Amino acid sequence: MGTPDARTNQLASNLQHVKKRISAAAQMNSRVEPQLIVVTKFHPAEDVTRLHGLGVSDVGENRDQEAAQKSQDVGNLDLRWHFIGQLQKNKAKSVVRYAHSVQSIDRASLIQALSTAMVREQDQSGRGDLGCLLQIDLSAEAQTGQGETGNVGRGGALPANMLALAEQLSHSQGLRLDGLMAVAPLGVDPVPAFEKLALLSQQLRSEFPDAQTISAGMSHDLEAAIAVGATHLRVGSDVLGPRPAVG
Ligand SMILES: *Cc1c(COP(=O)(O)O)cnc(C)c1O
Repeated sequence: MGTPDARTNQLASNLQHVKKRISAAAQMNSRVEPQLIVVTKFHPAEDVTRLHGLGVSDVGENRDQEAAQKSQDVGNLDLRWHFIGQLQKNKAKSVVRYAHSVQSIDRASLIQALSTAMVREQDQSGRGDLGCLLQIDLSAEAQTGQGETGNVGRGGALPANMLALAEQLSHSQGLRLDGLMAVAPLGVDPVPAFEKLALLSQQLRSEFPDAQTISAGMSHDLEAAIAVGATHLRVGSDVLGPRPAVG
C-alpha cells in the first residue's frame, strides 16, 4: 500500500473529530464512551474498507439491497454490520446473512419473520443468536398514543407496545433482545425525547435485565444521547460527509 489517498485522509480527520466529541461528552457527563457505529449508507464499499483500515469495527446500513452487496464486496474484513432501517418481512432472510444486529424492529410480524429466517440461517452456519433492538417512536404523537399504525414519527413502535414486543422477542428462537434504538424527532430539542428513551430503557431492563443497549444519537445530537446514557451511537454524515444524491 502506498500513502493514503485524499479520501482516506478526510475520513481519518472526520473520524478523529467525532471521536473527540464523543470523549468530551462522555467525560462531561461521567459516562462510559459509547460504541461508535459508522453509518455508511449511500457511500461505496471502498469507504467501508478505508474506515476498517482506520480502526472502525462497526458499520450501519439502512437498506438491505445496498447492505447485502456492500458486505459481500468487503466480505473478508472483520466488521460488524448493523441494520438500522425500515425492514420488510421479505428481506429478513437476506438480512440475517450479514447482520450482527437488527436495530429497527418495530412490529410483531417482523419479529416472527426474523426468527424464522434466523433459525434457518443457524442450521446452515451455526452462528449465534441475532442481536435485536426494538426501535421506539419518540415523536410527540406516539407519546399520546395517537399513531394508529405505530409508525407516526421517524419509524418505530409506540412506547406503549414496547413490553409486549420485548416479551415476544425474548421467546423467539434465534433472536436475542439487546435493548432499544431510537431516532430523535425532527426539528425539536432531542433532549426530552432521549430522556424518555432512557426511562423506557429502565422499564425494559427491570423485566429484561440483559437488554442494556440504548442506540441513540446521530451526527447532530450525539452529545444529547451520551448525556442520557446511550451505549451505541450511529454517526453517518459527520464521518463520511454529505450523502451522495440517490441515483
Ligand atoms: C442515516 C441514519 C443515521 C446517521 O445519521 P447522520 O445524521 O448522517 O449521522 C443514524 N440512524 C439512522 C436510523 C439512520 O437512518
